[in-house]
Amino acid sequence: MSYVSGKKMIAHAVKHGYAVGAFSAHNLETAQAILDAAQETQSPVMIQIGQRVINTHGIETVKRVFDAAIANYNIPVCIHLDHCHKYPQIVKAVSIGFDSVMFDGSQLDDQENIRITRQVVEIGHALGLGVEGEIGKIGGTEDDLSVDEKDALITTVAEAKSFVDATGVDYLAVSCGTAHGVYTQAPKLALERLADIKEATGTPLVLHGGSGIPDDQVKAAIKAGIAKVNVDTELRQAFIGGVGEFMSKNPEDFTLAFLMNTGKTRMKETVIEKIKLFGSENQAASLLSDAEI
Ligand SMILES: [Zn+2]
Repeated sequence: MSYVSGKKMIAHAVKHGYAVGAFSAHNLETAQAILDAAQETQSPVMIQIGQRVINTHGIETVKRVFDAAIANYNIPVCIHLDHCHKYPQIVKAVSIGFDSVMFDGSQLDDQENIRITRQVVEIGHALGLGVEGEIGKIGGTEDDLSVDEKDALITTVAEAKSFVDATGVDYLAVSCGTAHGVYTQAPKLALERLADIKEATGTPLVLHGGSGIPDDQVKAAIKAGIAKVNVDTELRQAFIGGVGEFMSKNPEDFTLAFLMNTGKTRMKETVIEKIKLFGSENQAASLLSDAEI
């Protein structure tokens, strides 16, 4: 097992022109699907833990389960806390060994978001971890909004720059035309804005809502400055699709291990596709041996 801080993992991605996949895990099988895919492609990987998983299972239990799984693999892994809204949860996460944390203060007013994110950066950097902040609102599916309303959500260069200067975050989630959940029509990313924000801030950017974006736009976004792509929805769809397939083919078979395994296999295939798309395949050894970053 090789835990790598988010800061180091993202720095390596920037240096070599790829993006790290931050894949959401929900239980043992989904964590193993991510790890199997990363091992097979020799890719660095982030396993991210979201708020619904924490609320359901408890942050310590989930972390221990994932640690037990990770112990069987030999690839660089970063455990990332996704969309944390409360500072005490950040403290808890870093005290039990998370390698990267995201504070999402996008619901707060800008001054309050900056104030708390700054505190998160202080504790994260004292421990050598990576810290992600968010400026602008990355909503749920925003299909009911007009084009003008969608444009108004896109993060501006000025707000991104003042946020990064004031907080010192290692990587920044911006609103660039994506949304969480399932798209009813393909999104159109604000690629020029991404490039302008990257240039003005010098900070690697994070793409949220990474499921269902056309491959050519994902590649262009990585060129424009995206160094971490969050993927959740497509992985859950693959897992649940596999489970459904098993149940319809084997209606009398209640062997839970076999059923879960079909979900795991489908999800692993999707993770492998994403790793190849993000360009992180075969970067594991280089990351582990790089002493400069
Ligand atoms: Zn997100």
